[in-house]
Amino acid sequence: MIPMVDLKTQYHDLKTEIDAAVLNAIESTQFILGPNVQAFEQEAAAYLGAPHAVACASGTDALHLAIVAAGIGAGDEVITSPFTFIATAEAICYTGATPVFVDIDPRTFNLDPALIEAAITPHTKAIIPVHLFGQPADMAAIKAICERHNLLLIEDCAQSFGAAVNGVMTGAIGKLGCFSFFPSKNLGCYGDGGLITCATSELADEIRVLRNHGSRVRYHHSVIGFNSRLDDIQAAILRVKLTRIGEFTTGRRRVAHLYSDLLKDVATVPFEDGKGVHVYHQYTILTDRREQVMARLGEKQIASAVYYPIPLHKQDVFAAACAGISLPVAEAVAGSCMSLPVYPEMPDESVRLVAEAVKEALVG
Ligand SMILES: *Cc1c(COP(=O)(O)O)cnc(C)c1O
Repeated sequence: MIPMVDLKTQYHDLKTEIDAAVLNAIESTQFILGPNVQAFEQEAAAYLGAPHAVACASGTDALHLAIVAAGIGAGDEVITSPFTFIATAEAICYTGATPVFVDIDPRTFNLDPALIEAAITPHTKAIIPVHLFGQPADMAAIKAICERHNLLLIEDCAQSFGAAVNGVMTGAIGKLGCFSFFPSKNLGCYGDGGLITCATSELADEIRVLRNHGSRVRYHHSVIGFNSRLDDIQAAILRVKLTRIGEFTTGRRRVAHLYSDLLKDVATVPFEDGKGVHVYHQYTILTDRREQVMARLGEKQIASAVYYPIPLHKQDVFAAACAGISLPVAEAVAGSCMSLPVYPEMPDESVRLVAEAVKEALVG
């Protein structure tokens, strides 16, 4: 059996350190906004090269808190990708704003900057590019559009911890960056967790207040806030794993590059432009014979998955609002994409077995 991800091997590699960190956090009994949360925020900000970082309860909350802190709400429009996990659009909707979906680049599966300006209206307040599967979006072009139209740039970095463009990490490019520590993400904790990177101390301060019931001083509440804090136990685990993130990224890229070598003649393999560091949260190929390939992998006890089978503008929840909208690239990619197992510790032999099975299905 070759799984999509193998969290157990990584835990066993780090068990001594993680178990000690968790037991220390429990012994301290500072479970909420304790010392590990503060230390992790500083360590994550330093790693990412971001001026400030604020931890919260999930990646979805990170997006929601960022959008609220940006002052976006009812009547506003936010441009984002239709080819992402639903949370990107959910967070926009929580505030009463409307997601406006713009089609993607077929090579990167990320927002196509050439199509963004046609979607800007007087109501547009922000653009949220998603660095899907760990591939950075075209941030130079998107940032230029934001500057030209005075729009806020909020990055969805849930799948891109450690990815970079021209030496700058995702999350340190826009005004706000939103990360998820869901267990299977590139940097994952052992439950839910999230983080917002902020370009200014004002935004960081605002988000610190929002995540803790709108309170700066205990039992004094200045705004309606939320209960969205990262647990100290999770922060303790993340501090251990953050020291290894470089190795994790190297491992994922080793697996991806071996796959691409083996599969480039039989399927469309992931694109790398040489300017960005793709961190391969997923290794996703395009093939017009997806069902055939997935069936063959299944017979050989090899996992595979479709991220994502239905673009957001075609989801029931948005179908009425998006009636008549056609985003042909997102629709075509959703119809032919499939993701193969990838995790930092995946042995080369397993990568070869998976690639062999894919080739058998496609060339016989
Ligand atoms: C995982 C994910 C989220 C949400 O993160 P959670 O921690 O699961 O709430 C948001 N956007 C994208 C692109 C994701 O992959």
